Amino acid sequence: MSSPPLPHAWPADTPPGFHLLAKPSGSTCNIDCTYCFFLSKEALYPNDKSRMSDDTLEAYIRQLLESHRSPNVTVAWQGGEPTLMRVEFFRRAMEMVERHRRPDQVIEHTFQTNGILLDDEWCEFFAEHGVLVGLSCDGPKELHDAYRVDRLARGTFDRVMDGWRLLRKHHVEFNILCTVNAANQDHGRLVYRFFRDELGAKWMQFIPIVERASETTLAIANQGWSVRDDGRKRLLYTQTGNLVTERSVGSEQYGRFLIDIFEEWVRHDVGTVYVQLFDVTLEAFFGRHLLCIHAPTCGYGPALEHNGDLYSCDHFVEPDYLLGNIHQTHMVELMAKPEQRRFGQDKRDTLTTQCQDCKVRHLCNGGCPKDRFITSKAGEAGHNYLCAGLEAFFMHTGPAFSAMAQLLQQNKAPADVMATVKAEDQRRGPYVPCPCGSGEKFRFCHGPKAALSPFTGVTQR
Ligand code: SF4
Ligand code: SF4
Repeated sequence: MSSPPLPHAWPADTPPGFHLLAKPSGSTCNIDCTYCFFLSKEALYPNDKSRMSDDTLEAYIRQLLESHRSPNVTVAWQGGEPTLMRVEFFRRAMEMVERHRRPDQVIEHTFQTNGILLDDEWCEFFAEHGVLVGLSCDGPKELHDAYRVDRLARGTFDRVMDGWRLLRKHHVEFNILCTVNAANQDHGRLVYRFFRDELGAKWMQFIPIVERASETTLAIANQGWSVRDDGRKRLLYTQTGNLVTERSVGSEQYGRFLIDIFEEWVRHDVGTVYVQLFDVTLEAFFGRHLLCIHAPTCGYGPALEHNGDLYSCDHFVEPDYLLGNIHQTHMVELMAKPEQRRFGQDKRDTLTTQCQDCKVRHLCNGGCPKDRFITSKAGEAGHNYLCAGLEAFFMHTGPAFSAMAQLLQQNKAPADVMATVKAEDQRRGPYVPCPCGSGEKFRFCHGPKAALSPFTGVTQR
């Protein structure tokens, strides 16, 4: 199958770079996590084995590299489960990258996996090519196995740990991708310590599970999203409805989960353990937004299906957000399409008044549009379901991040913040109830009289 060459004239509004997630096996997966609505996307490609052909692979790699004017390019593999494609497919991908890259391009390879199919061959391949592997794990066994199950509803924790041991054996760089859901939402510190102390993880990201449903779909959505072995069809998940499944994280609980982890991190691990949201929050103090979710606008994170269909975002793989197919239209033109620019700008232009007036808007920016389905305090539609938790997190951690930003401006290490926290703990004792009377037991209280910051010396509200 042919694919178009790079157009002679670079389209207006082309981004200099973007972060594409490629799904070589579509949404097909070898396990059956109950909360994974991506499994339902199989319905978009009925009677299709969902495997990327070498033609599509070559078109993808060439167009991705051609579409970047910035020298840094990330080649990111995701699913479904990409290990279903076998190692040879990715060896060919590596060879194509080397053949099509410009001399000035620096390539980062990432690979998100549930870890079940990892073996020595996979890990040797990752180590040989310096691939950063994202391993999905939701915490210790009892928390992980709550929803991360196989098609026979058996927990997958032990098999994931086998994969983790192989990654360690071959010295593969890995990060942990942990979802925050109804089962683990009350155990932030425990989950974090497990990753840090038991798995030796240095990089972590925490993704809230928010599965939308409506009154008519909630009951069936609560059963899960895959096609079961008995042939019962599930719904095609779309970002509609203003209810959530019982597996979804609560908004306040999400904030508490993050704050729990932050309280541990800010005392022990600044500069040695990297939590994605913490990194991007610190960057935001300098006006840099590295994560689309908390950037003012988005639209630079498209998803590529196995057949070359390009969608606006990994969370919007649904017919209304199909930009086109790279076998018909070059990726650079698809990314410059007015509807894709509009998709990204709507993130800013549809903020509720509550967001526009919010004290932490510069850090939060209203969160991801997929989560905007509740009404704001003023009764406007399209407010973020996670708002209460996000606001608590950004208010609570703001003083410490502000202190870290000041340290950076003074050419000092952000890790010096830990000495300040330690001194404050010694003065007041750790985890005592905050004197503001809010009942909050954390140091960086966001309660009504939170003028207690040891960092900024200013009232936080
Ligand atoms: S819709 Fe959400 S996940 Fe998608 S690009 Fe925008 S902020 Fe990112
Ligand atoms: S914390 Fe809530 S009100 Fe503030 S920007 Fe975020 S979603 Fe909007």
